Amino acid sequence: MRLSAQSARVVALTSAVWVLVLVVALYVAVASRSADCDSVNLTERHGAVSEATRKQVVGRAGWMLIHSMAAKFQPGEERAVLAMQGFLEAIAELYPCELCKTHFGQFLDASPPPMDSALALLVWTCKAHNEVNSRNGKQLFPCEKEPLQALYGDCGCDSS
Ligand SMILES: Cc1cc2nc3c(=O)[nH]c(=O)nc-3n(C[C@H](O)[C@H](O)[C@H](O)COP(=O)(O)OP(=O)(O)OC[C@H]3O[C@@H](n4cnc5c(N)ncnc54)[C@H](O)[C@@H]3O)c2cc1C
Repeated sequence: MRLSAQSARVVALTSAVWVLVLVVALYVAVASRSADCDSVNLTERHGAVSEATRKQVVGRAGWMLIHSMAAKFQPGEERAVLAMQGFLEAIAELYPCELCKTHFGQFLDASPPPMDSALALLVWTCKAHNEVNSRNGKQLFPCEKEPLQALYGDCGCDSS
């Protein structure tokens, strides 16, 4: 049976729409695959970052974690105290920079961290950080309780 000219136009138009949908779907699939590839490349690029830069990135992230954990520390809980002691000792043992972990370990031995108050511990971490700042000829950070608490007390992690 032959289609009328109008029906043929409808069929052609519908087919064209389907082809268009398929092309768009194919494009989206290819684009998301190359986005995956981009993240792989990002990792590769990160690997190409110089050793000095990586040391700084790890250092900044490391201090942010240390200060933020101190600010959130709950000294009333025995488990928390043991975990914090273990965490600080683990840094002295495992921090991925030989000189840094040695210095941190020496600071830990010379000046035991207070485990009875989150604020006191936060100030202690500030002093530990300042010890490195001073050795590296950087400005010392003011280790005052309230500003430190304001800076590190809210990591934005409480909602989820
Ligand atoms: C445990 C540890 C030990 C390290 N030991 C060494 C070492 O022996 N030798 C070495 O060369 N590098 C060391 N580093 C790295 C070094 O401290 C820096 O992190 C790195 O050089 C990058 O410095 P930065 O100037 O970008 O900022 P960072 O010193 O990393 O500071 C990041 C941010 O923290 C804030 N800040 C600065 N000082 C303080 C403070 N006292 N208290 C609270 N907040 C502060 C500021 O907003 C600053 O921008 C260590 C890092 C860690 C985590």
